[in-house]
Amino acid sequence: MKGSTSEIPEIMIEQIHILTTYMCTLACEHCFVCSSPNAQGTFSPSQVTALLDQTDALGTVDTIYFEGGEPFLFYPVLIDGVKQARGRGYKVGIVTNGYFATSDENARLFLQPLKDLGITDLSVSDDVFHYEDRKDNAARHTLTAGMEMGFPAAALALDPGGSGPGMNASPREEKKGIITGGSIMFRGRAAVKLSQYAEPKDWQQFTTCPYEDLANPSRIHVDAFGNLQICQGISIGNCWKRPLAELIRTYSPSAHPICGSLIAGGPAELARVLGYHPPAGVADACHLCWLARKSCRAKFPGVLEPAQVYCDE
Ligand code: SF4
Repeated sequence: MKGSTSEIPEIMIEQIHILTTYMCTLACEHCFVCSSPNAQGTFSPSQVTALLDQTDALGTVDTIYFEGGEPFLFYPVLIDGVKQARGRGYKVGIVTNGYFATSDENARLFLQPLKDLGITDLSVSDDVFHYEDRKDNAARHTLTAGMEMGFPAAALALDPGGSGPGMNASPREEKKGIITGGSIMFRGRAAVKLSQYAEPKDWQQFTTCPYEDLANPSRIHVDAFGNLQICQGISIGNCWKRPLAELIRTYSPSAHPICGSLIAGGPAELARVLGYHPPAGVADACHLCWLARKSCRAKFPGVLEPAQVYCDE
């Protein structure tokens, strides 16, 4: 729990995002961790315990997120993990697609144990890529039940961009509006499946990372393999091999083989340093970053991890 150690590391990680599983009920085109029903990599309760022990030792974290993939797929593991985190005094958030909510009534059954434990954020993915039926879907049932039960629940939606495709748009038109509207980050499966539909841009313009503070991160994603990911597919170490506190304390952003270039000159500099020759046009900064990294994964074992993010499917 925050403040439980006198040694404060320079980098203050405040949130640990536990990638409970890479497995998911869906295999969305815009997913950037390439989740699917066949994806491997799921936490066990004892691994959650080990990670929380390391989080306690770090002493700067106040919030634990359980996400995926789809964390409700391993419901007993999720409930046990939330119980463990709450028992240690952490705030807890959950990200789900709400697949289990075949009705509001069923949703309430799944959510009640979490209500009893106390959740500070219930984020439900509700967009046309997850659910083409925009009026009646499992995410809506989860949100309706969650709000009625007093959860701090909110939809994770995607901005359709500009004036949007309108009320009566088909799913195809709505997806097109989202892709061209700029709210997709083209990494992982989104890079593979959707980048071709975005307006191609000169790769040399991407001289900064637009989304992650790689020099001074406040959150980190951890998967069941132990990868500490500063952005999906960029690891700063493995917490099953070295303690989390040591990995954070010794993280040198400028010396990291991938983050150093990204900080110095964004994905364009990363591509140059890695000797990657980008296509004439790329969809966005993340597309260039992901392509450059994927091109040389074999040269950076332990850094460009895990395979799940690089969609070798
Ligand atoms: S540019 Fe690279 S490091 Fe930055 S958010 Fe996009 S994929 Fe992540």
